[in-house]
Amino acid sequence: MIKFNVSVFLIVIACLLGESALATEGDPIVKSGVADLRNANLKLTTTPLNGEWAFTWNKLIDPSAVTPVNNYIHLPQLWNGNQLNGQLLTPQGFGTYQCIVLLPVNRGPLAIRLPDFYSSYSLYINGIYFTGNGTPATTPAGYTPHWLSKTLVLPANADTLQLVLQVANFSHAKGGIKKEILIGDYDQLQFQRDKWIATDFLLAGCLFMGGLFFFSLFLFGKNDKATLYFSLFSMVYSYRIVGSNFYALHSVFPNLPWEITTRLEYFTLFSSILLFLKYVCELYPKDIYKPITRLLGTFCLVVSITPLVTPPLFFTRIINPFLLLMFFCIAYVLFVFLKAYFCKRAGATFALISIAVLMMVMFIINLEYFGIIIPAREVVFIGYVLFFFLQSLILSFRFAHTLQLAKDQAVEGLRAKSEFLSTMSHEIRTPLNSVIGMTHLMLKNNPRKDQREQLDVLLFSGSNLLSIVNNILDYSKIEAGKITFEHIEMDVPHILHNIVSGAKNSVFEKGIKLHLSLPEQSLPIVMGDPTRLTQVISNLLGNAVKFTQEGKVTLELKVAGHDKENIKLSFFVHDTGIGISKEKQEVIFEQFTQADSTTSRGYGGTGLGLAISKKILELQGARLQLNSEEGKGATFYFTQNFQMSNNSIAPLINKDKQQNDTA
Ligand code: ADP
Repeated sequence: MIKFNVSVFLIVIACLLGESALATEGDPIVKSGVADLRNANLKLTTTPLNGEWAFTWNKLIDPSAVTPVNNYIHLPQLWNGNQLNGQLLTPQGFGTYQCIVLLPVNRGPLAIRLPDFYSSYSLYINGIYFTGNGTPATTPAGYTPHWLSKTLVLPANADTLQLVLQVANFSHAKGGIKKEILIGDYDQLQFQRDKWIATDFLLAGCLFMGGLFFFSLFLFGKNDKATLYFSLFSMVYSYRIVGSNFYALHSVFPNLPWEITTRLEYFTLFSSILLFLKYVCELYPKDIYKPITRLLGTFCLVVSITPLVTPPLFFTRIINPFLLLMFFCIAYVLFVFLKAYFCKRAGATFALISIAVLMMVMFIINLEYFGIIIPAREVVFIGYVLFFFLQSLILSFRFAHTLQLAKDQAVEGLRAKSEFLSTMSHEIRTPLNSVIGMTHLMLKNNPRKDQREQLDVLLFSGSNLLSIVNNILDYSKIEAGKITFEHIEMDVPHILHNIVSGAKNSVFEKGIKLHLSLPEQSLPIVMGDPTRLTQVISNLLGNAVKFTQEGKVTLELKVAGHDKENIKLSFFVHDTGIGISKEKQEVIFEQFTQADSTTSRGYGGTGLGLAISKKILELQGARLQLNSEEGKGATFYFTQNFQMSNNSIAPLINKDKQQNDTA
């Protein structure tokens, strides 16, 4: 990262120096009001008409009646602050610039680039009106300001051009000409202009789209205010890229009213600083110094409102104090980012690099503003892109960081919940076992008839509670990934026999039939976890008996396939009970879910049995499935793969179809 930063810095410095050298290269072209370009290669180089232009203050000279002038003013330079014949020139006023340009005799088509002047002009060439912006006049009443950069073809066949430039300003804090007037090959000038416009629109488009993206992130995300302020900052600043400096927007819409575009230009500059300050405060709230933030914020707010409510003559005046305020803001933001960096806040490294880039861009722009250098536009472009990219990185980083934090907290919460459940179930199980054990003992001690009835209820409720606690313990074990499976020899038909025998009592009480159906062939001993298999089948059979009022319940085992080492066994639990509707078939496998809210009232249970059975089977590579129709019974089934045991030979259960009916 440091390497990258250093190389960017070096590139910026190289470009900066390269361009500034160009800007100061050679003597001024215009000397005592004459630019002698007879020997210049105008096809190859673009020539700035910098130097001593003849200047008449307080007069818009008639181009057809030009008289010699002995006062000169250096261009490009604002007239305000200059002295002419001992008279201090004010920003508001009018004057005429004159220059004679001597061109080579056999020259090709040439063009002139006229930037925006403060704040209206008319240009006459050899006594004929050539072009203008707004209406220069000697009184504010007849004057209209306008800004538009123009590149126009010079009159052909003329080897001497007498330029008369009338400039007037009554509405801006600056007066005169601040940017260079250029002469050169038309195609070259036009190409340069197109390149600048395209670059500005590209940058503005990127910023605007980036701003929209972050705005939608704010709307549909966590309503993070830092994201909101950054999105507004990007969108507001995108206007500045096309609505100031080179005025790319004005070249596409040349008739935009000056009053509106100027207000927008200043408003977007002032408010973007306010938005950036707000963004930084939301980004690193723990690192700001509140009184300074409030003070700067208030200043920026007041300044931002000014272009909306005061005349241009006023708000264009506050630019210099504002620049001071802006530098103070940048220094303060640098301080906040440094603090955030040392406190190791999310994205603070990017923040620090971005502010370094921003300071570099601002430094260059201000050197240009004060006429010290003319920076390569690419430098400013790269600087802006880098700055906005780094800010986006901070926000993306912050977003990802918040998500990760939320995820970690959720995982930690789940872990704590599972741990709590398993500890509590464990703690409850121990005394519960004693209660059940004691009840058994008391039942054996010939209690009275009424006592036996009460002890039976106690035993029933205790056993019920124990099965619920066991279920919770199992579920939390599965969730925590702590469940392990035995891999020992087991005789599946024998296990099924035992389960069916265990269920006889409840079936008998309900008056329904219980049927065990085993395959005709003898089955081998297989390797597996008999406890978990018993748990799953008992749960399915228990449910089948519970939800069947008449008819029968069948436990069926089938061989689904085998090879030399493995055997696939399918287990089915059929019943003729209440059945389950199609919509409920998905949800009943989720934890604590029952098909009907009345189920727990009518049949008891917690809604955990199926979720546990499903998980136990899944962890062993089997899938619990269901066929059912409401009111027509249900069949729960699954197929599990077992490795056959090497040591034992399968006991022959019955060559004929094994039947075991219980009335
Ligand atoms: P519990 O039986 O403790 O409520 P289970 O997870 O075992 O929890 O079952 C969830 C729900 O699935 C039951 O409450 C019941 O609504 C439905 N269900 C399970 N087995 C059957 C069945 N054989 N017939 C009808 N409904 C059943």
